[in-house]
Amino acid sequence: MADLRRLAGALRHDGGAVREAGPEDTVDGVPATVVARPASADGVAALLREATAQGLVTVARGAGTALDWGAPPERVDLVLETTGLDRLVEHGAGDLVVVAEAGLPVAELLEKVGGAAQELVVDLPPARLAGGSTVGGLLSTGVSGPRRLQRGGVRDLVLGATVVLADGTVASSGGKVVKNVAGYDLAKLLTGAYGTLGIVVRAAFRLHPARPDRAFVIGSGPAADVAAQARDVVASQLAPAAVEIDRPAGSDVAEVAVLLEGTGAAVGQRAADAAGLLGGRVRAEQPEWWAALPGTSGGPTCDGSTLVKATATLTGVAGLLAAARESEQRYGAGVALRGTAAGVLYALVTGSPEATALAVGHLRAAAPSPREGTVTVLRATPEVRAALDAWGPVGGLDLMRAIKRQLDPGRNLAPGRFVGGI
Ligand SMILES: Cc1cc2nc3c(=O)[nH]c(=O)nc-3n(C[C@H](O)[C@H](O)[C@H](O)COP(=O)(O)OP(=O)(O)OC[C@H]3O[C@@H](n4cnc5c(N)ncnc54)[C@H](O)[C@@H]3O)c2cc1C
Repeated sequence: MADLRRLAGALRHDGGAVREAGPEDTVDGVPATVVARPASADGVAALLREATAQGLVTVARGAGTALDWGAPPERVDLVLETTGLDRLVEHGAGDLVVVAEAGLPVAELLEKVGGAAQELVVDLPPARLAGGSTVGGLLSTGVSGPRRLQRGGVRDLVLGATVVLADGTVASSGGKVVKNVAGYDLAKLLTGAYGTLGIVVRAAFRLHPARPDRAFVIGSGPAADVAAQARDVVASQLAPAAVEIDRPAGSDVAEVAVLLEGTGAAVGQRAADAAGLLGGRVRAEQPEWWAALPGTSGGPTCDGSTLVKATATLTGVAGLLAAARESEQRYGAGVALRGTAAGVLYALVTGSPEATALAVGHLRAAAPSPREGTVTVLRATPEVRAALDAWGPVGGLDLMRAIKRQLDPGRNLAPGRFVGGI
């Protein structure tokens, strides 16, 4: 039972607030007891020290737009809202580095660094930006957009992080942080960990100069042909910033969109060359589906659907596209597939829990191991979760469990959210 008075006491020097939770604070179907909104890293540390001493389970919340990703936590005693930590700590324009607190909306970060013609290349779609997605939420879900192809994913862009562990210890690692902790690269470890290892309070990211000119080249055709053409563009000398494939559910046809970025006339020339390779057309505007997860234009996905991440080798993408079509024909599921032609795609699967489980199993046969590719469920209803293995074969599970034991021995942070019950 949470002692609200003592939790509030932990925040008395911080200016943060504590209140009883309401129905709106439910986390993926699991009701919460208390919500706290600290205003500083020290406040987060004092709060977590107290919460863990009380034996409570704490779940972090930024804007709360992706709380249904990962398995539901076993329990939620305390929702730790990060939006009180919303400062942009430092923008080292000369070093192309930004340091921000975890509750800062990504949209505000982009606006501030945009003033120096720089950007954090994460490609969050406009609806996500408008929804207030925070730096901490971005890091903890670990999703990356189209331009990961050339500039790397969020795990590559994060340089360092300051994290509060379950017992209140403040730990830092990587660049642009005060004190380094030898051993783990915490920032990378926390990317995609859904708040199960620590609460991120601040993170440093590598920025890129904004490239003023861009052109898109769009091609379409039978999915197998599109996969082959996309592969050719990725392997070409055209240095595309992104090569994305979109295959809507139920369709034999897929689209490929190539983004060329740079300065001046050279961009147009590279676009014309890419159009030649694809048999496609050049245009200035991005396709409507650009950077959005399948089944959406960046807004909320449809209810009851299952969101899946499917990775493959460059040559394995064609197999994933074929498996999507076969799943529809054999099991009656809908499988929309979209993502980078280099092999990080997302599938939106619709249909009964049984059809969904069979479809996910069939996709997994095309991406059967951590080396060849993996298929993991990001978001699903309880019925679908009960019908399938959400994570599939995962490499290094013993190591992940050992890290969890070391950083959060009492399982006080979102237990059960991650693979293997972590
Ligand atoms: C190209 C692209 C497209 C995307 N499209 C979508 C989309 O369509 N739908 C979608 O939901 N997401 C999408 N995302 C993912 C998006 O990054 C996250 O949904 C969003 O940033 C979450 O932010 P939030 O503040 O709402 O996080 P929350 O929903 O509040 O939290 C998300 C998860 O992170 C944990 N967490 C939050 N803050 C912290 C912290 N400080 N420390 C530790 N753990 C923390 C939470 O406990 C939770 O598990 C997309 C990302 C990219 C790059």
